[in-house]
Amino acid sequence: MKLAHYIAGAFYADETEKYLDVINPATSDTIAQVPMATIHTLDVAISAAEKGQKEWANIPAPKRSDYLLEIGVKLKEKKEFLAEVLTKEMGKVIEEARGEIQEGIDMAFYMAGEGRRLLGETTPSELNDKFAMSVRTPVGIIGLITPWNFPIGVPLLKALPAIVSGNAIVWKPASETPIIAYEMAKIFDEVGLPQGVVNVVFGSGTDIGTEIVQNPHIGVISFTGSTSTGRKVAELGGYHLKKVSLELGGKNAVIVMDDADLDLAVEGIIWSAFGTAGQRCTACSRVIVHKDIEEALQQKLLSEMEKLTIGDGLDERNKVGPVINMEALYKIHSYVELAQLDGATLLTGGHILEGGDYDLGCYYAPTLFKDVRPDARLAQEEIFGPVVGLIRVGSLEEAIEVNNNVSYGLSSSIYTKDVNTVFRAQRDLDTGIVYVNAGTTGAEVHLPFGGTKGTGNGHRDSGVSALDLYTEVKSIYIDFSGKLQRAQIDN
Ligand code: NAD
Repeated sequence: MKLAHYIAGAFYADETEKYLDVINPATSDTIAQVPMATIHTLDVAISAAEKGQKEWANIPAPKRSDYLLEIGVKLKEKKEFLAEVLTKEMGKVIEEARGEIQEGIDMAFYMAGEGRRLLGETTPSELNDKFAMSVRTPVGIIGLITPWNFPIGVPLLKALPAIVSGNAIVWKPASETPIIAYEMAKIFDEVGLPQGVVNVVFGSGTDIGTEIVQNPHIGVISFTGSTSTGRKVAELGGYHLKKVSLELGGKNAVIVMDDADLDLAVEGIIWSAFGTAGQRCTACSRVIVHKDIEEALQQKLLSEMEKLTIGDGLDERNKVGPVINMEALYKIHSYVELAQLDGATLLTGGHILEGGDYDLGCYYAPTLFKDVRPDARLAQEEIFGPVVGLIRVGSLEEAIEVNNNVSYGLSSSIYTKDVNTVFRAQRDLDTGIVYVNAGTTGAEVHLPFGGTKGTGNGHRDSGVSALDLYTEVKSIYIDFSGKLQRAQIDN
């Protein structure tokens, strides 16, 4: 299958462009060819977005919401088909792929509701016969640059609030996962959005990504990806005085206190650490465990890890799929080797899976270390694979210090039955998301999603706060006194 860009309400191909193979990481089969746009193609998309946005911004927001409702309905109708596409190109197991489509459905219906509000403020003026309010207005064109690990969930968290706010978008999906973006473009097309409101341009990060960030017609950049790329995007976007939203990496921990329900904690850790083969920004890669229950937790974890079935995500029996590509496989393994040099003790896993169907794809054995030092690279850097380190602590204070002492700040979790511990932890954990008696994953679309420190630059996807990124706020004063009234002077 040859994919095409989606520009000005039509699929758009330029045969002179280079095509890359799209590979199924479970089988290494080539499943599509994706074009790599030239700057000319991007320019065509930006011109289409400029035209489309003018018309779109004049449609009342509650009417724009109707399109989002239609998008939600289409996603629901195609959920199973889309989940299969997602599993084939990204590798996550089918149950999780369905979950990701559901996230898009939830966001479509939720944001359709926000289109009926798009709240500004009304506030009393300090002067008589004067009315004061603020309203939200669209920015214009929004550039979306998105990663492969949530190739439809993350883009929809951005695209839906962007368009309901009256903007047009130019979206560059990750080159590893373009098929789901292509299928999403079909849905945008089927609901009849005015031409140019949504444009999907496939291309390399260094060429097309960079040009999106610096193009003067694009007002806001909404980026999700690695911290190293995010830093480049921030630098370039900052130079061009753009509003840049960055959702970046994580180094998320589950804290297990000595009074925790250990079976519950183990279930949460397994799901957070090995779901999506550890390739979630919120994946648990550190378990900070109270010394009194370390041995018991370790035994229970090992016994549950033995039950994990690994293989092609299309097979419902598998709980862990492949990682995205060979490069990721070798990167994960290099961290495992480094951890051993750093003094950590390997309890299970620690190798690339080989033999039979494993030889076809990119499979890594779920891996558990103990005796991990909080400052070891395994405990500090994002590995993005099914690798977890146990870090022993003696108190809640120490657990919180270890949790917070990383450069990232996305998600954290604590298992305890003590209400005082719960309240201290939710106050003192410094991440953007905190879970109590649940793992590090499982955000819902109507609360803000994002992190502190190296995980981003203060913006949030999802929730009503997402609208802050995609709107300009205009403060309006209406003086009906019929005379000059001077604020700060005549009162
Ligand atoms: P990546 O940074 O390699 O790529 C992300 C996107 O940026 C891709 O579309 C890529 O083509 C593009 N890109 C690459 N170089 C660019 C450049 N110089 N200028 C502009 N765009 C460029 O990240 P990835 O490997 O696709 O995704 C995994 C990362 O994403 C992990 O670090 C993960 O934690 C993070 N992530 C974060 C969140 C969050 O919400 N915090 C969610 C999902 C993934």
